[in-house]
Amino acid sequence: MKENNKPKRNQPYCIRTFRCPECGNHAYASKIGAVTGNGHKKKMYCPWCMEDRNMVQVDFIKHR
Ligand SMILES: [Zn+2]
Repeated sequence: MKENNKPKRNQPYCIRTFRCPECGNHAYASKIGAVTGNGHKKKMYCPWCMEDRNMVQVDFIKHR
């Protein structure tokens, strides 16, 4: 029996909401595994500014 060696499917993941500090628009980023807390900063491309911004996480939704 090799049941325990199977890769996990349906891993829990979360969708995080980030806000651009320049234009105030929201962008979304998914993440598998550990969740980062609100206030987390992430350098992301902002499609509205058309530049990389240090976006701030303002919300997250867990899925599993
Ligand atoms: Zn922006």
